[in-house]
Amino acid sequence: MYALEIKGLTKQYKNGFKALHGIDLCVKEGDFYALLGHNGAGKSTTIGIISSLINKTSGQVKVFGYDLDSQLGLLKQQIGLVPQEFNFNQFEKVLDILANQAGYYGIERSEAEKRAEVWLKKLDLWDKRNQQAMRLSGGMKRRLMIARALMHKPRLLILDEPTAGVDIELRRTMWTFLRELNEQGTTIILTTHYLEEAEMLCRHIGIIQQGRLVVDMPMKDLLAKL
Ligand code: ADP
Ligand code: ADP
Repeated sequence: MYALEIKGLTKQYKNGFKALHGIDLCVKEGDFYALLGHNGAGKSTTIGIISSLINKTSGQVKVFGYDLDSQLGLLKQQIGLVPQEFNFNQFEKVLDILANQAGYYGIERSEAEKRAEVWLKKLDLWDKRNQQAMRLSGGMKRRLMIARALMHKPRLLILDEPTAGVDIELRRTMWTFLRELNEQGTTIILTTHYLEEAEMLCRHIGIIQQGRLVVDMPMKDLLAKL
């Protein structure tokens, strides 16, 4: 079973710029996949399309077999997205941000609070549960974004540059957290422009250059070639 199957994916933005030129990419269930590339390579465009925030121009996308075009609702339930920018309401309290997110997926408040407690404790944010999000540090906001993405128990977690601007200590904490999550069965895809991060964490690597996937192989095979 594939967590993600992408065939012939292209994207041309409205200004005419072609950001993706026919991406083919499969991620196996349970895998930990790094999509590596320089700024502007097309990483955010790719994951934006998978998570239905950006319209594709052509090609096919399936998540756990659900087609982006014809089964969008089911597809979205499979995915937890951690975008780069903090896009929660800064005036809301941490616990409410999580509970409201669960509400979008039809999860009852009592169940939502149970789940929130689990993630807030694991991510060391439990003490902050009644604080407004704006009062959190950058690193705490980053962890809040991860907790929020996990509230509906997605089978695929997608993170866009999760450790950009994060200090080395928090980066290590996040790596440990993500590794555990993956070991417990969540398929993870992250974008990064640090090879080192991909190497530390991921079992499979795709390298994207100017809208083309130029490398797609198990990490150990890539490391053997270097
Ligand atoms: P789409 O073709 O997916 O509908 P648009 O072309 O409408 O996307 O652009 C979406 C948003 O991205 C617009 O607000 C646009 O100003 C912004 N944008 C335009 N060029 C860039 C760029 N090079 N990088 C990032 N964002 C851009
Ligand atoms: P990455 O995530 O790898 O840094 P992106 O997917 O954000 O790359 O961008 C890929 C290319 O598409 C870049 O050249 C970027 O400027 C361009 N781009 C991104 N968004 C838009 C947009 N809305 N309109 C036009 N061009 C865009």
